[in-house]
Amino acid sequence: MPLPDGSEWVAKHLQILVAMLAVALVAAVPLSHAESTSDEDTFDLVIANGRVIDPETGLDDLRSVGIRADRIAAISRTPLRGRAVLDASGLVVAPGFIDLHAHGQDLPAARMQAFDGVTTALELESGRLPLPVAYERVALEGRPLNYGFSVSWLFARIAEKEAMEPDGSITFFQDAQRRTGWQHTLASPGETSRIIARIEQGLQDGALGIGILAGYAPGHGRKEAFAVAQLAAKYGVPTFTHARYMSVIEPQSSFEAIEEIVSLAAATGAHMHINHLNSIAVRDIPRIAELLHGAQGRVLRITTEAYPYGAGSTVVGAELFRGNWRERLGGASAGDIELAGIPFDDSTLAEAQEKTPGEWIVAHYLRPDRSAVDQDYLDQSVLFPGGAIASDGMRWTLNGEVITGDVWPLPPEAFAHPRSAGTFTRFLRDYVLERKRESLREGLRRMTLIPAQILEASVLQMTKKGRVQVGADADLVVFDLATVSDRGTYTQPNQTAVGMRYVIVSGVPVIRDGALVRDALPGRPIRRPVATANF
Ligand SMILES: [Zn+2]
Repeated sequence: MPLPDGSEWVAKHLQILVAMLAVALVAAVPLSHAESTSDEDTFDLVIANGRVIDPETGLDDLRSVGIRADRIAAISRTPLRGRAVLDASGLVVAPGFIDLHAHGQDLPAARMQAFDGVTTALELESGRLPLPVAYERVALEGRPLNYGFSVSWLFARIAEKEAMEPDGSITFFQDAQRRTGWQHTLASPGETSRIIARIEQGLQDGALGIGILAGYAPGHGRKEAFAVAQLAAKYGVPTFTHARYMSVIEPQSSFEAIEEIVSLAAATGAHMHINHLNSIAVRDIPRIAELLHGAQGRVLRITTEAYPYGAGSTVVGAELFRGNWRERLGGASAGDIELAGIPFDDSTLAEAQEKTPGEWIVAHYLRPDRSAVDQDYLDQSVLFPGGAIASDGMRWTLNGEVITGDVWPLPPEAFAHPRSAGTFTRFLRDYVLERKRESLREGLRRMTLIPAQILEASVLQMTKKGRVQVGADADLVVFDLATVSDRGTYTQPNQTAVGMRYVIVSGVPVIRDGALVRDALPGRPIRRPVATANF
């Protein structure tokens, strides 16, 4: 989709600038922890008599929440009057879940995530380029959830190495799988500076950080990675890295890849966020956890996230399934990789790698269903102290074709990794309710406050999210603790999560009485201020 030109373009960007200034002004007002007990005012929406949990202040008690427009205006022990009142008796009221790792930036994926309690779904690991096109495409279609993007290092690298122009969509990445030069070759000094310039443009266009899909181009140079981290430090934004290697065997091990990230944080001061610790660490998590604890103890800015599944999802042509990959993943086989629920064998895998390298598959890196040791490895990643829960959720496909547009419900055979529909409710069910590995408040913290804090030093909007406090954004979930659960499986992923009675974005229910409000599109862009140098 081309940008509009001339005066229309300037007007559009002035609009964005004014909106960002408004956000910045509102965000500059500190949150109040005081509670209003006034019942004289009528609120636009009241969530009455729920168990309100705020992970930051420690509030965990019966309250009514009064919402005015898109903000929480009161939190009260006594009843509040509202033009609309939602009864939350017997239900938990918590901040909406913030997903830092949502690849499915379209309507079907967002709706599936709404059932999972997500109110903000950000694409930070891959990111996009160019940024204005990515934001504008979503704004034109509308979203139930808040959305936003990092700028993609990999898109910039592919553009320079292959002379392909990115179009702001993830399809660009899939198309690039047909070529391999960008995966293995070093960038010349000239190429590196042009890659950096493209990324810098993305940051000036309001990107939330730099997405670094290092593992998809593991042959890139250390100096290139260093330059990217230096740029992040210069702009004070986080990087989001899918680490370079995925292997228990040295050299080129997961351990080495995480060590590189630690060294970049130390040398540049950049905030380095490590994506999906569960899948990147494979069966080496105990040593990698030690490495990360050590680095964090020395006050390096390193954060991480995980999703509660032993399988990942990627394209079948990915570099990590080449060479001695079975050994490197600690004893994997072609049968650990599935296409739409059907496992490969050696010959069908080789064929798919050659003929359809851009096809999305599910790969079981850990087998928690078969091995207590693997379950423990997964738990160490998911429960890493201070880590966020993030879905790595994907787009939904039908017979290999992506489902886009206003399609609902999705056709029964629609396919994606089940994390795309159940990451957050699965974590609640499995880790909090059933196995009681973490308290409800601590579990909620991983899905709300921690992801907000990972971004808020550079993204002012996030200071108002991940909290149930007066002045915070009215992004809320209201759920039944007894029944909240994921339902999707690897073979039948297309099953919405259950237990979310209401999911509210900017004061507007997108899930009401457990059902999707199809025409509710209150999602807003999350974006750093756009540089004004062009005006
Ligand atoms: Zn990844």
